[in-house]
Amino acid sequence: MAYEDFHRRSIAEPEAFWAEQARAIHWHRQPDAILDDSNPPFRKWFVGGETNLCHNAVDRHLDERGDQLALVAVSTETGDTREFSYRELHREVNAFAAVLKSLDVGRGDRVVIYLPNIAEAVFAMLACARIGAVHSVVFGGFAAHNLALRIDDAEPKLLIAADAGSRGGKVIPYKPLVDAALAEAKSPPPHVLIVDRGLAPGYARSEGRALDYATLRAQHEGAEVPVEWLESNEPSYLLYTSGTTGKPKGVQRDVGGYAVALAMSMWAIYDVRAGQAMFTTSDVGWAVGHSYNVYGPLIAGATAIMYEGLPTAPDPGIWWRICEKYGVRTMFSSPTAIRVLKKQDPEWLAKYDLSKLKYLFLAGEPLDEPTAQWINDSLGKTVIDNYWQTETGWPVLALMPGVEMKPVKFGSPGLPVPGYDLAVIDEATGEEAAPGEKGVLVIRPPLPPGCMTTVWRDDKRFIDSYFSHFKELLYSSLDWAIRDADGYTFILGRTDDVINVAGHRLGTREIEESVSGHPGVAEVAVIGVQDAVKGQVPVVFATLKQAADAALAAHEMQGRVVEQLGAIARPARVYVVGALPKTRSGKLLRRSIQALAEHRDPGDLSTLDDPGSLEEIRGAIDRGA
Ligand code: ATP
Ligand code: MG
Repeated sequence: MAYEDFHRRSIAEPEAFWAEQARAIHWHRQPDAILDDSNPPFRKWFVGGETNLCHNAVDRHLDERGDQLALVAVSTETGDTREFSYRELHREVNAFAAVLKSLDVGRGDRVVIYLPNIAEAVFAMLACARIGAVHSVVFGGFAAHNLALRIDDAEPKLLIAADAGSRGGKVIPYKPLVDAALAEAKSPPPHVLIVDRGLAPGYARSEGRALDYATLRAQHEGAEVPVEWLESNEPSYLLYTSGTTGKPKGVQRDVGGYAVALAMSMWAIYDVRAGQAMFTTSDVGWAVGHSYNVYGPLIAGATAIMYEGLPTAPDPGIWWRICEKYGVRTMFSSPTAIRVLKKQDPEWLAKYDLSKLKYLFLAGEPLDEPTAQWINDSLGKTVIDNYWQTETGWPVLALMPGVEMKPVKFGSPGLPVPGYDLAVIDEATGEEAAPGEKGVLVIRPPLPPGCMTTVWRDDKRFIDSYFSHFKELLYSSLDWAIRDADGYTFILGRTDDVINVAGHRLGTREIEESVSGHPGVAEVAVIGVQDAVKGQVPVVFATLKQAADAALAAHEMQGRVVEQLGAIARPARVYVVGALPKTRSGKLLRRSIQALAEHRDPGDLSTLDDPGSLEEIRGAIDRGA
C-alpha cells in the first residue's frame, strides 16, 4: 500500500477510514456514529460504542496467546527481570482490580499512581482501566509539591505508591515525599496503597492511611473482576505534559479512540504485530510509556518490555543485551538517551546479536543530525525520528514502515501520520507557508482518535492553550516547523525558541544542529538573550565528551556556526558546563536557561530533574565563562 493513498484517504474520508481501523479492536457494543464534530474543537469519536482498554490489552489475547510473554520488566536497579505471560498478566490485573474495588474505587473515580517503572505500575493502570477508574500516573520520584498539585487536580479516591524508587543504585524513599504531598494536598485521598519492594524498610504500613498491597493482593488472588464496558468517550486517564514551556497541562484521554489509534500505530508506524517484541525505554509515567510500554504493544498482542535503570548500568551494553535476549523487533527510546550512549565506547553496540532488531524509533525532542547519524552507523539499523506530544498520545509525524518505508531524512521526523491534516502557517499572514518557508505547525480539526479530548476540568484552558492562536480553529502546541518540497517536516523548536538577531529570525534549533556537529560536543542548548544593539543574540550552553578541550571547543563552535549559518548566527557567548537542566522526561529547559541568562526568575521548576545543573549555569553566567 502506498503511504500517500493511505494518508490521503484518512483526511478525505475520515469516517470511512476510522471505521475500518476500528475493526482492529473489540467492541462490546458497536458505535452508533464514527464522529460527532458538532461542537468544535471538542469532538467525539466512535460515539455510543462500548469497549474497554484492559479487555483489549489482556483478556482478548488469552485464547490465542495466553502463554506468550506479555510483559517483561527489567530492573538493573534491583537486578530483577520479571516476566509475565498474558495469562499471568490477566491474573495480576484481576487481583489488582479486586483490591481497588475492595477500597471502593469504581467507574469514574480517579486513582493517582506514583510508582517507579515496575510491573505493578502496569498492573495498576490496567486494573483501573478494567473497572473504569481514571488513572493519573505521576512520574515516580517527582517532588512532593508536584504530587500534591496532581492530587488536588485529580481529587483521587486512592493514591498508589511504592516504598521507594532507585536511580543509579541510589534508593529514593517515597514515604517522605508521599507524607509531604498528603500534608500539602487540599483533599488527600483516604488511602495510600503501598507496593513494598523491600528497598526502604520501615514504611509504616499500619499507620494512618497506608495499606500494604501484598497483603491485600493475597486476599484477592485468583479473583475475577468483570470488565466495565465504557462509552468510547468516557475518560480513560489524565496525564500531564512535561512542563517544558510552563505549568504542565492535564491531558484527558478517551477510551475507544485511543485504543483504535494505538492499534493502527502499532502495525503502521512501529511495524510490530502480535507475537513480536517491542522494547520502550521510557518511563510509564510519560506519554510514550503509557502508549508504547503499556497500551499499544498489549493491544497488539505483542511483548512489551520495560526498563528501570540507567542506560549505562551495569554497562552501556545493557539495552542491546535486552534486545538480543528477547528478540526485540522495534526499540523506542529518546534522543537524550542516545546522547548519553554517544559518550560511551561504540563497541558496546556491536557485541550482541541484533538480527531481529529492525528499527530504533526516537521521540520527545529534536533528534539532531549528528546523533541520528551516529546511532544509525553504530547500530546499523533503521533509525526513525517521530514527533508527537502528550496531547496527541501517539505520533503526528513519523515514517511508517508498516505501510510503506519512505527514505529517512536526518533532521526530519518525516511525514504526516494518517489522521493528521497538518499545515505550516506563516505567523504574520496566517496563511499556509510555502514549502521551504518557516511557520507554526498546526493540525486542522478534527483531531484524530487518540488525541486529548480536553484539559481535565478546564475546557477553557483547552481552547486557550491550543485553539486560539489563529483565526480559524486550528490546533497548535506552537512548534515551529518547515516543510520541504517532498512533504517532510522539520521541527525547528518551539515558537518561543525563535530568536530575532538584528531583524533576522533564527531557530535556536538550527544553531544547535550546527554546534552539535562539533566532534567534542555531547549536548547543546542555544537560547536567545536580549542584547541592546541586536535585539537578541544566540548564546550557547554545551556539555562536552570527556576528552575535549573546553576553550578550544568553544572557539570552534562559534567558527562552525559562522561557516554554516552565516555571521548573523554567530553565538555571542559559549558556556561549557557539566550538565544541562532538563525536565524529568529528559527535555532541555531552555526557557529557564534563558531566564537566568537575562537575570530573570527561572519560572516553574516543578518538573526540573537536577537543580544542580541550573545552579552551575547561574554560576557560569555570573563568572562570565
Ligand atoms: P509543555 O507542553 O508542558 O511545555 P512539552 O511540550 O515538553 O511540555 P511533551 O508533550 O512531553 O511536553 O512534549 C511535546 C513536545 O516535544 C512537542 O511539542 C515538541 O516541541 C517536542 N518534540 C517531541 N518530539 C519531537 C521530535 N521528534 N522532534 C522535535 N521536537 C519534538
Ligand atoms: Mg507542549
